[in-house]
Amino acid sequence: MRVYNFSAGPAVLPEEVLKKAASELFEYGDSGQSVMEMSHRSKEYEAIHGDCGALFREVLGIPGNYKVLFLQGGANMQFDMIPLNLMVKGKADFVVTGQWAGKAQSEAMRYGTANIVASSKDKTFSYIPELDSGTFDPEADYFHICYNNTIFGTKFPALPDTGSVPLVADMSSCILSEPADVSKYGLIYACAQKNVAPAGVTVVIIREDLIRDLSGSKVPTMLQYKTYADSDSLYNTPPTYSIYMCKLVLEWIKSKGGLAAMKQHNEKKAAVLYDYLDSSKLFKSTVEKKFRSLMNVPFVTGNEEFDKKFIKEAKAAGFVNLAGHRSVGGMRASIYNAMPIEGVEKLVEFMKKFEEDN
Ligand SMILES: *Cc1c(COP(=O)(O)O)cnc(C)c1O
Repeated sequence: MRVYNFSAGPAVLPEEVLKKAASELFEYGDSGQSVMEMSHRSKEYEAIHGDCGALFREVLGIPGNYKVLFLQGGANMQFDMIPLNLMVKGKADFVVTGQWAGKAQSEAMRYGTANIVASSKDKTFSYIPELDSGTFDPEADYFHICYNNTIFGTKFPALPDTGSVPLVADMSSCILSEPADVSKYGLIYACAQKNVAPAGVTVVIIREDLIRDLSGSKVPTMLQYKTYADSDSLYNTPPTYSIYMCKLVLEWIKSKGGLAAMKQHNEKKAAVLYDYLDSSKLFKSTVEKKFRSLMNVPFVTGNEEFDKKFIKEAKAAGFVNLAGHRSVGGMRASIYNAMPIEGVEKLVEFMKKFEEDN
């Protein structure tokens, strides 16, 4: 029996997608092979690869002057690739709103000046700091944010106005959860295993003028965006099965009405959970209202023993992976695109019952 999986990542995938993948696992079309067994240079795989890129562009509405790249190494590798490729003058601005944003900043320090414009560390990253564009460096090579903070459950209520400085955003835990205006960004990156596909592929959407020729430099070939842009992400063997799954997820999103429909579905789910948290005497949200994530919902009882008891009883009832990140404790329900509304409604029922009994 399948459970309701609230994991932050790797995370739940749409049931229709899993079933479709299962039906094609043994033999893809009339190819006589599984996608996993195919040459990445075969015409069958090249069609999957091309469709995945085209669907990404279509679903997210990516303008023509951006490239969609399929990489490996997770979001963590982007913490290095971004400064290696984008730091020309040797400085960038960062907003530190959590652990991932902090890692992006600290890795960038290897390559140049990684200036912290603002941080919400003072209140355990429970809010997004107010930004004053007068404090931004107009000479910075880029301005980095983590748009949705997976661990702390916060999301930027609005984008910072960085003028002509390219905005770079880690969207690992929110890409494809709602429409986004890609033209506002210089670069967007997201590992797949939250909302896009199984682990293995990392998507980078980059404005073409930021793809630099680093051929004479010490930057490894595999860490240059141009390597992937010039080869349609087929310079070496890409994570073929993850890319195939990504294509199925994009087809699923399209069949559900695209990102506007996803947003509606996600807002509805989040409201069910937040409304209950705001009315409960036992459970409470850890995030200020206007900064709440649609995807990751941390909450606590205020009593560690109760938290543990809740996580254990929830697991036994079929609601799994509700423990908060190891750095913060408490609980966290990740409610990505693939989490059905019934999953959230039933979780809230279970929480109400737990509240009555305790
Ligand atoms: C999960 C996550 C990461 C780390 O991704 P890896 O693929 O494990 O490197 C980075 N940033 C955000 C916002 C995440 O949610």
